[in-house]
Amino acid sequence: MRWLVTGGAGFIGSHVVDRLVEQGDKVVVLDDLSSGRREFLAHHLDAGRISLEIVDLTDYDATLPHFAGVDRVVHLAANPDIRLGTRVTDTDLRHGTIATYNVLESMRQHGVNDIAFASSSVVYGEGAPLPTPEDHGPCIPISLYGASKAAGEGLIGAYVGTFGFRAWIFRFANIIGGRGTHGVIFDFIHKLVATPERLEVLGDGRQEKSYMLVEDCADAMLHVMGHSNAPMTLINLGTEDTCSVRRIGEIVIEVMGLNARMDYTGGDRGWAGDIPKARLAIERLRSTGFEPTCQSEQAVRTTAALLLEEIVGSRSGTQD
Ligand code: NAD
Repeated sequence: MRWLVTGGAGFIGSHVVDRLVEQGDKVVVLDDLSSGRREFLAHHLDAGRISLEIVDLTDYDATLPHFAGVDRVVHLAANPDIRLGTRVTDTDLRHGTIATYNVLESMRQHGVNDIAFASSSVVYGEGAPLPTPEDHGPCIPISLYGASKAAGEGLIGAYVGTFGFRAWIFRFANIIGGRGTHGVIFDFIHKLVATPERLEVLGDGRQEKSYMLVEDCADAMLHVMGHSNAPMTLINLGTEDTCSVRRIGEIVIEVMGLNARMDYTGGDRGWAGDIPKARLAIERLRSTGFEPTCQSEQAVRTTAALLLEEIVGSRSGTQD
């Protein structure tokens, strides 16, 4: 099987590529390296097991040729920073909606029908019942990032309905783990390295979301793709519990061996467009026979230790 993974040099993408290589499949990665890193794939590139093409998916002509001979697409490329949309308002339109259209149209031109798509819990918007089941609606996102995910889902539905595509849409909770380059744990470690006695926390710390380890996320995606052959599979990926931002701060401080005080900026959310409470129903995932290996708090603790090693290790490496 020959896979094309967009955003495959990114955090989640590089773990998906690890799994595909492990199962002996061929992989082409398309990535513009805007937030992805070549080093996340170096172990496969150096061994000649995959190819990496540096392509900006907002450029249709540059994107199109790479889909020749591909069997399946995992479309993960997107702007990962929800907050960026509050300042640069066409970011998610370009790197989310238009890039997704370019991927789908390139697939159609080359007769590639199967796509897995990284959507997000933020498509449910605010006020959804918790835990939120896949059939909750209407979905009205409140961030430009969320709007681009909803648009991506809509475009994929259109290609399924009109051109006979087969799609797996994954609505991710917060995915965390090694090689993370953004998110609350990453931010807290950086802040504490700069000021070990004080941790600034955005909001009141009561925001509560569920967290899933990136290895579980990659395994779940491939498991579900092997399990369901329906024209359109829509499925939440997450864990059944939540962890508050205050608790994450406590865990990161503890893992770093510090005694920092936490200062809250106040308000019920970290930034405009943030959804303060999110928990996904995962019965549909479970019904496929998949069970996450750990819940939110353990995932946070594991990630804090891994990222601390990566961040502090790379700093001491730079200084040598
Ligand atoms: P990431 O930034 O590590 O990965 C995104 C990748 O896409 C990067 O390698 C980046 O270089 C690439 N990219 C961005 N714009 C591109 C473009 N125009 N052309 C080519 N490549 C481009 O982020 P991630 O956390 O690994 O996220 C992967 C996917 O999962 C994204 O679609 C994201 O929206 C989605 N998602 C992530 C989470 C999470 O908690 N990490 C939650 C919900 C959804």
